[in-house]
Amino acid sequence: TSSALLGPAEIRDLAGRLGVRPTKTLGQNFLHDGGTVRKIVRTAGLRPGERVVEVGPGLGSLTLGLVEAGASVVAIEIDPVLAGQIADTVRTRVPGADFEVVLSDALDVTELPGEPPTALVANLPYNVAVPVLLTMLERFDSLERVLVMVQAEVADRIAAVPGNKIYGIPSVKAAWYASARRAGTIGRNVFWPAPNVDSALVYLERREPPTTTASRRQVFAVVDAAFAQRRKTLRAALSGVFGSGAAAEAALRAAGVDPGARGETLVVEQFARIAEQLRDLSD
Ligand code: SAM
Repeated sequence: TSSALLGPAEIRDLAGRLGVRPTKTLGQNFLHDGGTVRKIVRTAGLRPGERVVEVGPGLGSLTLGLVEAGASVVAIEIDPVLAGQIADTVRTRVPGADFEVVLSDALDVTELPGEPPTALVANLPYNVAVPVLLTMLERFDSLERVLVMVQAEVADRIAAVPGNKIYGIPSVKAAWYASARRAGTIGRNVFWPAPNVDSALVYLERREPPTTTASRRQVFAVVDAAFAQRRKTLRAALSGVFGSGAAAEAALRAAGVDPGARGETLVVEQFARIAEQLRDLSD
């Protein structure tokens, strides 16, 4: 066991000293189990000295595991009290750690200090996990790999493939950027306070987005429309996007997609081909 990591007593003590009362709105569930932290760091498979971005370092549970493994970490934290303390916690417990913190909502960060990060490793705040994941992949091209802990059901959604009942918007959008797989389940008792759902790790590896003349924005607009009413056929679901049911049907046929199919059967490449049929590709 490593002395740098935070156990239940240290978490309680640190929170007490800072007057931190974990809030649900910010998804504040802090890891107090060194074994889980080590498992996350091991699964991330970081290279020595690798530049890592962490969203929501909180009291530092995962951050300490990352810097201890030799990573160079830039963390984004929205809570000013936590952001104000984290550097001190890291430097005290892991002397010489390569670490900096940015006080911000991760959804608002467009630039990061220092070397571009090649990995995102985070225990994400649950209520904004999917937007944060997609935003980071969109904004930071340098990210090659992602290992995030999210609600187990959200992990399943992100990693789902067509035909699965839970295949949906997060699955298709994540697939635009990366291939995703679930990488282990985490029980609720490793957190303080314990959430009322289980968590899971999702591992994503960047891939080239599908080759298409449509923009990402256009493809995502088609995806949003296709899943807005899951039970509708694509012809009906995309009639708004294409102006009419007949236009949607023509576009689907031109894209080689059955107009009577449902969005949940299509891979991201097919959504891209449908988006190519949008008349105005100027976006
Ligand atoms: N990494 C710590 C751990 O594993 O113990 C804390 C994880 S906790 C699930 C989520 C953290 O994200 C909290 O510290 C919370 O304040 C922070 N957070 C919530 N919303 C955020 C946002 N939009 N941008 C950046 N940080 C956020």
